[in-house]
Amino acid sequence: MDSRKLVIAIDGPAGAGKSTIAKIVAEKLGYAYIDTGAMYRAVTLKLLRQNLPFHPDLAGSVAEHICVRFQPDAGINKVFLDEEDVTEAIRSHDVTALVSQVSAVESVRSAMVELQRKMGKQGGAVLDGRDIGTVVFPHADVKIFLTANVDERVRRRYNELLAKNQQVDKETLRSEIITRDKYDSEREISPLRCAKDAIYLDTSNIDKDGVVKKILEICKVE
Ligand code: C5P
Repeated sequence: MDSRKLVIAIDGPAGAGKSTIAKIVAEKLGYAYIDTGAMYRAVTLKLLRQNLPFHPDLAGSVAEHICVRFQPDAGINKVFLDEEDVTEAIRSHDVTALVSQVSAVESVRSAMVELQRKMGKQGGAVLDGRDIGTVVFPHADVKIFLTANVDERVRRRYNELLAKNQQVDKETLRSEIITRDKYDSEREISPLRCAKDAIYLDTSNIDKDGVVKKILEICKVE
């Protein structure tokens, strides 16, 4: 067993199961789980609450003054924004529809990347997102690019929402996932990419336990 406290970076498109897998891997290793998507979502929520038209400068100023933290609680990775529990609120449709625009703003990214580096620098952390292995921790000990085909990603997200009693139409979900991936992959700053030295894991035909097992093997801790 490797006793070093690793930095594990898990990147990939929307709905690939990154947060589910990252959370389990972190629990198994006794590591912190840093859901960087939740951080961009928290900035977006705070911005939406201002009820003002979208402007990059405004988004940047929100990001520079925000306080986001995580707290594991009974298997849930709770997200606090300025000490308010926003775990559910950041998953709303309005937040999801705007988050890619907010996360493409340079000043938003630099504020979030700085926070993420602070949170992960001691090691013993699993971070999931879009640019962890390419930008946030380019020297991460383990880099995984987690993906699955679009049908499978829509199916997973659909089941996740059903389990929370949220009604959603599969076609709407599909177009939301495709639009967000396109935006995240084509933006100028830190686009979604598989790092050159990342392990590419297509999980279309592997279940959750299988993916976790593979990642733990890659980390050489099992
Ligand atoms: O992971 P999740 O789907 O919650 O991420 C929400 C959004 O946050 C993504 O669509 C992307 O625009 C942004 N994001 C990002 N960089 C990260 C993590 C998320 O730009 N490291």
